[in-house]
Amino acid sequence: MNAIADITYDWANKLFMIVEDNDNNFDLLETFLKKTHAKIIWVKDGDEAVEAYRKNPEIDVILMDIQLPTVNGFEATKQIREISSTVPVIAQTAFALIGDREKSLEAGCNDYIAKPIRKRLFLSVIARNLI
Ligand code: MN
Repeated sequence: MNAIADITYDWANKLFMIVEDNDNNFDLLETFLKKTHAKIIWVKDGDEAVEAYRKNPEIDVILMDIQLPTVNGFEATKQIREISSTVPVIAQTAFALIGDREKSLEAGCNDYIAKPIRKRLFLSVIARNLI
């Protein structure tokens, strides 16, 4: 038995917002989160993300895709930061380009995950950012 592989997080009392325009990517993240019992709000573009956060300020963590319709994830994060300086925002981008991490942090993201996203890393990055 590998104890590390068996970590199960309990996020039943946490509300996540997943900002992701690609259905398959969303399905993957939802699958990763299934056993944690996290509650999930799914939005598909940057404007919708800002609006959904305004309406649901109790959101505990935001998983922010960067390439999005309307405004991108950097801009959406900047706008969300005008509403809350503390809600954890974790950026995810398809391109592990030099500079994306820095741009994410400059925009106000707390952390950054490069796609393709692996389950164990994904969950541990969320765990270290949840307040
Ligand atoms: Mn995208």
